[in-house]
Amino acid sequence: MCQSCHVRTVSTYRTAAQVDQRGSGKGQPVLTTHAPQAGQGVTLPTTLDEAVAALTAMPAAVPVAGGTDFMTAVNSGQLRPAALVGLGRISEIRGWQYQDGHALLGAGLTHARMGRPDFAALIPALAAAARAAGPPHIRNAGTLGGNIASAAPTGDALPVLAALEATLIIAGPGGARREIPVSHLLAGVEMLRAGELIGYVRVPLLHAPQVFLKATGRTGPGRAVASVALVLDPARRQVRCAVGAIAPMPLRPLDAEHWVAQLIDWDKGRVIVPEAVNAFGEYVAAACIPDPAPAEDGTVQQLPPAVLHLRRTVAALARRALGRALS
Ligand SMILES: Cc1cc2nc3c(=O)[nH]c(=O)nc-3n(C[C@H](O)[C@H](O)[C@H](O)COP(=O)(O)OP(=O)(O)OC[C@H]3O[C@@H](n4cnc5c(N)ncnc54)[C@H](O)[C@@H]3O)c2cc1C
Repeated sequence: MCQSCHVRTVSTYRTAAQVDQRGSGKGQPVLTTHAPQAGQGVTLPTTLDEAVAALTAMPAAVPVAGGTDFMTAVNSGQLRPAALVGLGRISEIRGWQYQDGHALLGAGLTHARMGRPDFAALIPALAAAARAAGPPHIRNAGTLGGNIASAAPTGDALPVLAALEATLIIAGPGGARREIPVSHLLAGVEMLRAGELIGYVRVPLLHAPQVFLKATGRTGPGRAVASVALVLDPARRQVRCAVGAIAPMPLRPLDAEHWVAQLIDWDKGRVIVPEAVNAFGEYVAAACIPDPAPAEDGTVQQLPPAVLHLRRTVAALARRALGRALS
């Protein structure tokens, strides 16, 4: 991701929001504070296709939405972009619309917006994840698209999108659009190509309980040590669960999902015996953090204490998530 450097100091870059306030007009390039060389700057397109065109015209440019991850990378010296394409003025990706039983979420939706009650009524687990995504100033600026594109293991939206089996609408050059599962991007099965941007996230509207729970290593806002997203899909009689933060991408314990789904009485108030809820937690945790394989001589090594603790945390989160979804 690192771009060739054409700037004297990385601190000459401001966040997209700051740049946005000084922008000179529709789609106009504006220069950074010190502008050490001609040709560097920030382009502020107002449509998705303009943004794609700007990226295509400047292959070294980096798209910036809320700038929360981007500025962290710049300030730590990991990223020194030659030019920026700010996405903050693209109003078409800052809201959502309904489409065939799905919600089409703009990539520019901020965590703060997704945490509001009207959004929570639509996709409760994503709203819960958005409310947990860092301190307020981060939630005000950070976006859904940035969370996905950064693909950090601790990205709170990611296990929710995995459990929902959400897809991405990717905008490409010449007005092209293609749709891929979020999990394909996170697993590296499919990548964003040159000039492409995440435009929208398509999420099924399930009209059933959904839960997102997160464990952090501290009180107050913090990155997840482990997180669990769990959604009920009554139409397909499915329980879908994804565990975040413990691996490079969210993990789906498919066997545990299938096992527990057939224990739920879907016709009579979605009841289940309490023992099954506890066993589900253990099943999920063991699937995501398995015991080491036996050595050739048949001896089995114990997991280190920290890993065992993490496994217990995952078990507790999964158990609570299922219990809440079915309560
Ligand atoms: C102090 C702090 C605490 C945080 N805590 C949390 C937390 O608890 N949970 C959590 O999930 N995250 C957390 N984050 C991470 C961050 O806030 C989120 O990942 C946020 O959603 C990123 O969105 P952004 O709009 O700021 O992305 P940006 O920083 O603007 O961009 C991030 C990356 O995504 C790319 N990008 C952005 N939009 C698009 C797009 N539409 N298409 C293609 N590429 C795109 C950019 O080029 C860049 O590479 C924290 C960050 C900070 C600094």
